[in-house]
Amino acid sequence: MKIHPHLVFLAVLVMCTAALAQPSGDMDSHIAAARAAAGLDFRGTFVNLCLPGVSPGGARGAAGRGGAGAPVTPDRAGWYASPYKVFDNLFWLGTRQHSSWALTTSGGIIVIDTNFSWAIEPEIIEGLTKVGLNPRDVKYVIISHAHGDHDQGAALLQSRYGAKVVMGAADWDATLQRSANVPGGVPKRDVTVGPDGMKLTLGDITMNIVATPGHTPGTLSYVFPVKDQGKTVIVAYSGGTLTGAFGSDGAKWDEYTASQKKIAKAAADAGASVILSNHSEYDGAYTKARLISVKREVGEENPFIVGTAGVQRYFTVMTECSIASKLRLGAK
Ligand SMILES: [Zn+2]
Repeated sequence: MKIHPHLVFLAVLVMCTAALAQPSGDMDSHIAAARAAAGLDFRGTFVNLCLPGVSPGGARGAAGRGGAGAPVTPDRAGWYASPYKVFDNLFWLGTRQHSSWALTTSGGIIVIDTNFSWAIEPEIIEGLTKVGLNPRDVKYVIISHAHGDHDQGAALLQSRYGAKVVMGAADWDATLQRSANVPGGVPKRDVTVGPDGMKLTLGDITMNIVATPGHTPGTLSYVFPVKDQGKTVIVAYSGGTLTGAFGSDGAKWDEYTASQKKIAKAAADAGASVILSNHSEYDGAYTKARLISVKREVGEENPFIVGTAGVQRYFTVMTECSIASKLRLGAK
């Protein structure tokens, strides 16, 4: 077959244009890659990580960092949410902004992240009871990272029910330096996860805990199985998201980027098709949890299932925004 020279010219032109649109190392190309990966599914994650000057939503700040002083409970009308069963053995116990989760196993309950101290009673303890679970069965409390919006409830679950608190090594160190009067109190050190991560087994469930330093030095992410109407599906849980404190410290950006690649690989290896986070603005948990109670039509999936490609797209957003932000700040 004779190929018309115009076609050859066109093909070369198309290839060159594609190359121009994605020059390697260019900030805009990484933002474009993140935007494409985010689509409409992970818009909140993209906006918060890739667009400079966007102030993140949700309550964090000083109260979120375990600052001293009496906890101030915001108006319940602005945050309270009912608990929801989102998989056969996974319950969402979040406020409308921050998520906690209860994973039930044959050996008891694992609570993932514990929210602010003012949310622990209404959301986690009453939440467990409302869905028919007993807070006394909580065996482990796993803290993704030691910021107050995720860890202030840990000490109470430990002291009242004897649950063991699991945290990354560096975040334990930071936690144990807090003064005793921080909101929620200071938990005692139980299980420490080092840089190699660990497998945590309770009853019939084994969680792959992956050390993903970046958002904090001890941030943990997870891969674990749940059941969806009897069928096993794998969850990837992203334990720390924002990068606003890295500034011009290139090593911090590189560490964060490496961590996202690491958890993305662990998720891919396990075939994870669900992405969860501890903030609803990133995974849409509050919206999806309420959708669970709506009748599923034939062919419709659990709204938390985004597919294996969807999970990878989520981590691509984190990775590409991190690379882009490092370039934007000229971090070395
Ligand atoms: Zn945080």
